[in-house]
Amino acid sequence: MSTTIPLKDLRSQEREAELATFVRAAAQRSQPEGPVEDTRGRPLADLRISVTDRCNFRCVYCMPKDVFGRDHAFLPHAALLTFEEITRVARVFVDLGVRKIRLTGGEPLLRRRIEHLVEMLRAISDEIDLTLTTNGALLARKAADLKAAGLSRITVSLDSLDDATFRAMNDVDFPVASVLEGIDAAAAAGLVPLKVNMVVKRGANDDSIVPMARHFRGTGHIVRFIEYMDVGATNGWRMDDVVPAGEIIARIAATMPLVPVDPHYRGEVAERWRYADDSGEIGVIASVTQAFCHDCTRARLSTEGRLFTCLFANEGFDLRELVRGGHDDEALRRAIVAIWRQRSDRYSELRTAQTAKSAKIEMSYIGG
Ligand code: SAM
Ligand code: SF4
Ligand code: SF4
Repeated sequence: MSTTIPLKDLRSQEREAELATFVRAAAQRSQPEGPVEDTRGRPLADLRISVTDRCNFRCVYCMPKDVFGRDHAFLPHAALLTFEEITRVARVFVDLGVRKIRLTGGEPLLRRRIEHLVEMLRAISDEIDLTLTTNGALLARKAADLKAAGLSRITVSLDSLDDATFRAMNDVDFPVASVLEGIDAAAAAGLVPLKVNMVVKRGANDDSIVPMARHFRGTGHIVRFIEYMDVGATNGWRMDDVVPAGEIIARIAATMPLVPVDPHYRGEVAERWRYADDSGEIGVIASVTQAFCHDCTRARLSTEGRLFTCLFANEGFDLRELVRGGHDDEALRRAIVAIWRQRSDRYSELRTAQTAKSAKIEMSYIGG
């Protein structure tokens, strides 16, 4: 009996093969000297590493339960890059100019002995800004070890201070109080300045914007309000659900006047604001209404070692094959340079009805 392979799978298999050929060829070809910049002149400056595709939350905008149910097939352990493999790839990125590494997922604190990975990455260089984004559920017990291992700072996601709203958004009935404990533990451990990420979804948690700003004002922690994005194919995104950054700022400034602050560096995604009375700072990440692709300097390494050059990319370059195939660091370096130099992504700038419909990778897999 013959098995028919659907055309779509055939096409994606062909495309996979094409990409693999590109990576293997690039690994063997010496690359011209000069800056590692993409086709739009954007340097390779940041690396986000997803250390697991699993999560203990089921945030409605990221891993909705009807898609990530009990029978969802997560990656088998053998598919994941090991800590040694991650560190090796990261070292090559640092040699190429990356100065900022962020660990993410899925939920990075679910990866066993994650602090050991932090220690290994810190050993690459004292200079790199080494950070991690977490939902905070396991942070209270991990914060001190992460700091001791060499983590520079931390970002904690928290979508509301209202318990019922937060439990509904994480969809696993997880309480606000435990995340706040994690935030306190991280601050006590010295993982500062600490950032708090709040994804704003209209009708779900937008009434938490002002209370959130008020709660963290004066603490030294920086709340960053994130426009709800159309990442992946599963969150049923609609433009109507987005609260534009301009509206977020206006709502806060109505009672707590704000003044704009200049960006720290090229590629900073958050637009910064400080309270006029100097009681602190907030940020808005306007990925939907004010795309920042022109300054996007981020590469993303997925849990199984694929390199994505855009959060919205629907295909990644398999570096794991090189790592496990006996290639040396020079080969890895060549491949990464070639991948970055052919990069032209600017999805958010081009967001159109057509591109929004195309098949996309889930954020929990690629690393947010
Ligand atoms: N589990 C960790 C956490 O939640 O912090 C790290 C991974 S999570 C994918 C990284 C960040 O992406 C979080 O701050 C999360 O709120 C944000 N995020 C996830 N889905 C999003 C979406 N559809 N739009 C905007 N931000 C999103
Ligand atoms: Fe998990 Fe973070 Fe996605 Fe929420 S946003 S489901 S915590 S990976
Ligand atoms: Fe960068 Fe892609 Fe986001 Fe544009 S859409 S800012 S290129 S990750």
